Amino acid sequence: MKLRLLLAAACLCTVVFTAPRLGAQALDPIRYTLRFPAPHTQYVDVEAAFPTSGRAEIDVYMATWTPGSYLIREYERNVEAVTAAAGTRALNVAKSSKNRWKISTGGAPNVTLRYKVYSREMTVRNNWVEAAFAMLNGAPTFITLVERAARPHEVRVELPAAWKRIETPLEPVSGSANTFRADNFDTLVDSPIIIGNPLVRDFTVDGKKHSIVFEGDTALIDADKTVSDVQKIVVAARNVMGPLQYPHYHFFTLVVEQGGGLEHKNSFMGMGTRFLTRTDGAYKNWLGLIAHEYFHNWNVKRLRPIELGPFDYENENYVKMLWVAEGFTDYYADVLPKRAGIVSKDEFLNTISNQIEQVQTIPGRLVTPVNMASFDTWIKQYRPDENIANMSINYYPKGAVIAFLLDARIRKATNGARSLDTGMQWAMQRYSGEKGYTPDQFYAVMSEAAGTDLKPWFAKTAESTDELDYTEALEYYGLRFRPAPASTRAFIGGGTRNDGGRLVITSVRRDTPAISAGLNVDDEIIALDDVRVRADGLTARLDQYKPGDKISVLVARRDRLMKIDVTLGAEPGRAWRLEPLANATAEQTAHLNALMDGK
Ligand SMILES: [Zn+2]
Repeated sequence: MKLRLLLAAACLCTVVFTAPRLGAQALDPIRYTLRFPAPHTQYVDVEAAFPTSGRAEIDVYMATWTPGSYLIREYERNVEAVTAAAGTRALNVAKSSKNRWKISTGGAPNVTLRYKVYSREMTVRNNWVEAAFAMLNGAPTFITLVERAARPHEVRVELPAAWKRIETPLEPVSGSANTFRADNFDTLVDSPIIIGNPLVRDFTVDGKKHSIVFEGDTALIDADKTVSDVQKIVVAARNVMGPLQYPHYHFFTLVVEQGGGLEHKNSFMGMGTRFLTRTDGAYKNWLGLIAHEYFHNWNVKRLRPIELGPFDYENENYVKMLWVAEGFTDYYADVLPKRAGIVSKDEFLNTISNQIEQVQTIPGRLVTPVNMASFDTWIKQYRPDENIANMSINYYPKGAVIAFLLDARIRKATNGARSLDTGMQWAMQRYSGEKGYTPDQFYAVMSEAAGTDLKPWFAKTAESTDELDYTEALEYYGLRFRPAPASTRAFIGGGTRNDGGRLVITSVRRDTPAISAGLNVDDEIIALDDVRVRADGLTARLDQYKPGDKISVLVARRDRLMKIDVTLGAEPGRAWRLEPLANATAEQTAHLNALMDGK
């Protein structure tokens, strides 16, 4: 959910995707056939039949990134054995750029492109094929026509004998086995496909079908247990954002000991551990992922920043509002499980505290406004290096904290008559669908909900690096930050890793003893005060000192030994943990309860 301005005016695809779309009905579909002749080799074979409309040449391309995951991923690198034919006649096909091909049609009305896709990236934004199952996503799988039209795309799957079931939000084509249809390429890209022998549980809310789908190592998954809790989250989210707008929603979880989730309009693809229904912590984490990704079916998939559509699938799409698309979603991922009765008040305050702590302990919050962290996500958040914490702020927690503060502000300004829920509902009514919102439009609708002009407040919280002000929210809800006693533990600052027994610095935070003394990333720490320190022994050794002690650190920097004097600091206390005031008034407690109960 983080796209912005369309760039590269010279790029044909920009013109292509921003042009008005023609009606889908008039156009013949592109028809794909997916085959898995040897799934254990981790390939899917794709056949794509393109109508040529009588052209002598057609241009086709593969997307280089997928919406919701803001990095150019060069999916085309996994494509091989590309051939083209018209019937039995081979046609010339040539690459014209890294992700485009030009096919000479020889005047044929239809041409077939065949290719293989290596499918071995176990993430929600790519493909995975193995002997037991396949997870396919649209962007890394389907080469499509370079054109402006909203053309239907059909997908037929030839099932290997051992695989019995296909789960996808794509619409089944009646009368054609294992065949599905998307009205346009956007829908195809937005519809993952799971093929294998998944574990599926269905339930209904408001007459709409929902399917919880587990694939992978599902032996330990208690799927029955998940149904009522996922259903409660659906209801809690619907109570905020309004009616369910899909015919059928799929909650996909690949049980593959990985994490992550990616939202789609009528589904999400997530990954988790085989123990996710076994332990309370893992289960609530998974339900938090469900809440986050499910809330996206409104916030970003139907109510989106204006730059997030139509997509340019070949270039970065720049957007400044991911702190709303992701951060507000993350706030509701904390709120909804509380409203659903899944987590306790303490657990809820703990999740909000975690968001605040993630913002307030990152030096980069004073360097980059959250709207610019969103804009630069393609080169920063999705490409983090060792210095990112000094330079930038994560728009997930900062957006969530802004949502928390905004919710309190709207509730207070309207004496509890309205809330952030109201603002999101009004934004949905006004800007959902093809419209999208600009930052000013979003600020205006929230101002309307609050009954007061919030633009200056947004300028300060989202467009500047000023510190966030928690006073109003804490006072309104009767909360405080638990006092953290001054630490007596010595602190040097900076991350380290055990590199085959060598203790190597991996990051150096601003405002730490390490950076003041001149310790650098990749320095190998060998000894403190001439006594060797082992790779796993730094914490225990620092415990032998007090804050304020001056020590000598022997490091190897590009193999040259050097001693660096460091004045140790005090370990930072955990100053950002929320707790209710002991003497909170009944009114303050009622305010907090209203937030937690969705009133
Ligand atoms: Zn998200």
